[in-house]
Amino acid sequence: MTFIYTLRYMLDPRTNTPAKDEKLIDFVKKGRIDDVAFFINGEELNHSHLTKAETQVWLDAIKPLQKKLSDIGVTTSLNPWTTIMHSDRGYRVNPEIGFNTFVDIDGNKAKDMACPADPTWRKYLAATYAQYASIHPRRLWLEDDFRHYNHTPLKLMCFCDYHMQLYNEKLGKKETRAEFVKKMLQPGKPTKERQIYLDQARQEMIENEHLIEQAVHEVSPETDLAQMTSYPDWHALEGRDWEKLFKALAGEGHPKVARPHLPAYNEVAPLAYGRNFEEYTRITAAFLGENAEFYPELESYMYSPLVKSNAFTAFQIITAALIGSQGILLNLYDMMGNGINESWHYAEMLADIKPFVNQLLENRLPLDHLRGIKVLVDQDSSYHLQTTAGKNVEELLPHEKNWASLLGAFSFATSILPVNQKTSLENEIIAVSGQLLRNLANDQITALLKKNLVLLDGESVQVLLDRNLGNLLHVKNAEWHPVRTNYQSFEQADGHIVDGVKNPRITMLQHTGNYLKIEYQPQSDVNVWSFAYNSIDEKLGNVMAVIDQHIIVLPMDQDPRHGWDSQFITYKQGLLQQMLDSIKPVDYLIGMPNVKLLVENDGQKAWLANFTLDGYQQIKWHLAAPLVSNEATIVRKVGNSVKKTKIHINVENGIASIDEPLAPLETIQILF
Ligand SMILES: [Zn+2]
Repeated sequence: MTFIYTLRYMLDPRTNTPAKDEKLIDFVKKGRIDDVAFFINGEELNHSHLTKAETQVWLDAIKPLQKKLSDIGVTTSLNPWTTIMHSDRGYRVNPEIGFNTFVDIDGNKAKDMACPADPTWRKYLAATYAQYASIHPRRLWLEDDFRHYNHTPLKLMCFCDYHMQLYNEKLGKKETRAEFVKKMLQPGKPTKERQIYLDQARQEMIENEHLIEQAVHEVSPETDLAQMTSYPDWHALEGRDWEKLFKALAGEGHPKVARPHLPAYNEVAPLAYGRNFEEYTRITAAFLGENAEFYPELESYMYSPLVKSNAFTAFQIITAALIGSQGILLNLYDMMGNGINESWHYAEMLADIKPFVNQLLENRLPLDHLRGIKVLVDQDSSYHLQTTAGKNVEELLPHEKNWASLLGAFSFATSILPVNQKTSLENEIIAVSGQLLRNLANDQITALLKKNLVLLDGESVQVLLDRNLGNLLHVKNAEWHPVRTNYQSFEQADGHIVDGVKNPRITMLQHTGNYLKIEYQPQSDVNVWSFAYNSIDEKLGNVMAVIDQHIIVLPMDQDPRHGWDSQFITYKQGLLQQMLDSIKPVDYLIGMPNVKLLVENDGQKAWLANFTLDGYQQIKWHLAAPLVSNEATIVRKVGNSVKKTKIHINVENGIASIDEPLAPLETIQILF
């Protein structure tokens, strides 16, 4: 199988030369590129929305290269850089094209960015996509400016006169933009205004993609349409319905094709990347499911080895396998027309890892069939969550990614599970954070909590209390203590030992949220594992607890900037492992912080990926279930080839020991 390398490439129609074309062809051959996605009207060469004649200049420049690439078995795709437009940057819509621009939540009017419901823009965009389709690209991409937010410096849209008219019609009364927005964000029960906004944003994007799909497939039925995506929590804030949106774009007989965001435009610490990979890349992939095709975004803005090493680039490409990617979109070179830079040695690096990524794809990771703790997410959370101040649109962002990054760093086997009002789970291990439970009915919540091993955060507990479901946790009384108010200072696991440290402490002061102090009903089955203390060592109340031997509570919310950073310490990791061990066996790695473990449902395949600069001499895997066999094959990259090693695994007390090393940044596969 071939892991598709798609090179995103800027050809400047005005200054391109045969020498640049030759370099491109040479790079494609040496770097084993399968597909070239040509930018159209991108970044520095972007000149607002183009007329038909201006667009044709780009297509005419691409066509001769398309032929040359085809001669060497390489496909051509297109990456037009604008749909709505990323930001204004001094441009205005050409009056000849003449569509209306959007107005943001504060009433600021864009000059060059489209209103996504504007009928003229819709017609223009569909016609322009039909024009792109005239060269029959393999894949035709929609940029990630196809969204209602991140159009800097403007904020969430659209609140133009036309949209206000649409909203008011559905509302059945007339409100000004300011009145409508205030209601949208208002604390307490979500308003009709909020629902109307989200419904409209959701629906208009689906309609737009459908219009584009119809126009494109009339001209080029064989072309796959593909969508670039951003942060899933922000997409929730524009009401994104992942399945409907991607189906509308794909059309009949075509796959859902996505470019999930890979959260490192520059090189960052691999363990920090590991957290964001869970929060953005894995959650996005989960919303689309394993039937979708993924080509994640490898980008090195501002480009060159000065912002990202080849080793880190290779690590990002290889770990794309952890969402079952079929390939990758490579944004390795700038968008100004410099073309290929051979001195950066990308071709060698790409060729070097190609056999390994091809091999990983032979046993593609089955996104919807993974073992371990299921982190629940819901695309509809912005519909139901409650704001606290009602001042900022960020209050509508779901807080559902915290367990994913924490448990992934703790080396627990996890998967991400999108839920809805029909979801019913039994005998699973689930992790819930933020206000996700507000999406569900009381009987559904009760069943989830009763029939599964459940991890809950403080915000989830608050939802239960608001719903008068505190009895499910035997809560007698609960009260929030804001962080840094001279109350709680640290958490202490009295009577427990982690890493040889007795009664280990974890901060409750820095990079942490507020503390929900829960008092439990007397004689209830609650085992408290840690307690809050103040700065003079006085015990204040309960922190982590196991309720009814199957519900674990971490009674904190999140810091607005730092999320759950305070929890990323091996004391908490060890504590959580011990708490889970006291209930039932789960899959995790021992003594390998920041190594991700993914395990197929049937235990036939496992993936280990080291998101640190430390290497490990041995693999120790705490098993949730007996191994399917004690004989296995380890697949790893050695030099520029694939090495398969037969191994024998010793299991003692439910822990598998594998005498094989794991190098810094290395990913391996274990096949049973
Ligand atoms: Zn509008």
